[in-house]
Amino acid sequence: MLDLTYETPKPKVIAGATGDWELVIGLEVHAQVASKAKLFSGASTQFGAEPNSNVAFVDAAMPGMLPVINEFCVAQAVRTGLGLQAEINLVSAFDRKNYFYPDLPQGYQISQLYHPIVGEGEVLVSMAPGVARKVRIERIHLEQDAGKSIHDMDPHMSFVDLNRTGVALMEIVSRPDIRGPEEAAAYVVKLRQILRYLGTCDGNMQNGNLRADVNVSVCRPGDYEKYQETQDFSHLGTRCEIKNMNSMRFIQQAIEYEARRQIAILEDGGAIDQETRLYDPDKGETRSMRSKEEAHDYRYFPCPDLLPLEIEQAWVDDIEASLPELPDAKLVRFVADYGMTEYDAGVLTADVESAAYFEEVARGRDGKLAANWVINELFGRLKKEDHDITESPVTAAQLGQIIDLISADTISGKIAKDVFEITYTTGRDPEEVVENEGMKQVTDTGAIEAAVDQVIADNPAQVEKAKENPKLAGWFVGQVMKATGGKANPKAVNQLVAQKLGL
Ligand code: ADP
Ligand code: MG
Repeated sequence: MLDLTYETPKPKVIAGATGDWELVIGLEVHAQVASKAKLFSGASTQFGAEPNSNVAFVDAAMPGMLPVINEFCVAQAVRTGLGLQAEINLVSAFDRKNYFYPDLPQGYQISQLYHPIVGEGEVLVSMAPGVARKVRIERIHLEQDAGKSIHDMDPHMSFVDLNRTGVALMEIVSRPDIRGPEEAAAYVVKLRQILRYLGTCDGNMQNGNLRADVNVSVCRPGDYEKYQETQDFSHLGTRCEIKNMNSMRFIQQAIEYEARRQIAILEDGGAIDQETRLYDPDKGETRSMRSKEEAHDYRYFPCPDLLPLEIEQAWVDDIEASLPELPDAKLVRFVADYGMTEYDAGVLTADVESAAYFEEVARGRDGKLAANWVINELFGRLKKEDHDITESPVTAAQLGQIIDLISADTISGKIAKDVFEITYTTGRDPEEVVENEGMKQVTDTGAIEAAVDQVIADNPAQVEKAKENPKLAGWFVGQVMKATGGKANPKAVNQLVAQKLGL
């Protein structure tokens, strides 16, 4: 069985004036729960709806309104926990995190500080075939999202859209186990992949349905190992938190910038102020939003409107039984069953739709050939038009036909690419295209022989040269292929050319 973890990735090292520095990173990922209704109300979560049209009385904090927990959102959080091999807490509780902001009409966010629904888990983050790190998950809690203040619609007024207020979020908190910018991005990619497999978050970062707060600190080589041994945070540097990142590229840029900023301060004899920062992608730098001294005192306390959340082990077991095959397991199976490389398996299992498409193409066929066609031809072509697999104009059955035509020697690999292009642009079935466009490979040796004879007769000088240098036979093969419009069976052509030239 393939082992995905035989090597641990190296931490990113930055050389400073006073010696080497290493990076330590922990992420708090906010993932919007895939649910039609909000966490504590029946209002719709539909994205892009008319502003303030998806707002129940309780979302708008009307006096006397009480939150009612949405069982489906709880199930989604449990499902996520199970998918991250995490501990599920049968008893959890909601707390109020108090702060005032116009997009939060209650004046507090309902969250789970003291007793989150999900405890410790882990995510395997692959950096290259065989090189992976286990990033520990500390906890996942359920909480409400806030609304949106809009400042750019009017020169004098600000507006607020409460459609998002009260939408369920899962906050997935990692341990500070991530050791570089690329690893941080790979962690988010992997987490997103698992959530999408589970169907618990659509992973749409552009819409803000998945976003990350990135905590960064720097330390000297050896310090992290001391932290690992003791779990004592004093071995690590002071961290800064970069808020609300929703692009893999910006996450990497922000970490890189932030680490260098901290190193410069430390090497100058200064100290890092624990603070919350924002990344400005235009300037490529992070800037302070608030320092620890200005940090809010949220006055957390148990939400008196909600009973502790108690769930049954049997219910958790039912959810567990319904989990799909997850990315790591699928990847290992693809390598074992289809004889493909770990790299190719990684590409094909990037999302469930690609994996399912591939398996339909590969069923009963040569797995390596199928993988090659799906990855190189189909994905390559889709990428050109910025399409994803669900928009493929070529169905899995059609691609399967192309592979069958190649395997049966009805068409050559080269003609197959032309057939693919016709099917891609017109939707016509490959079998029909080959039949009606006269694309069948010529295997009739008589016809091939005639073409070979013709080329030999036309090029006496080349024939003499080829007799001395057998490598020139290739030139004749090329000429015959050209003369037959690429339809001659290459194997037959090679044989006949060698035979006729007496090689
Ligand atoms: P808070 O509740 O103030 O946000 P937590 O202790 O929950 O603080 O940590 C938040 C995140 O910061 C976690 O993802 C954690 O892994 C990360 N973190 C903690 N200490 C460090 C550190 N020294 N360097 C980098 N990340 C850290
Ligand atoms: Mg935090």
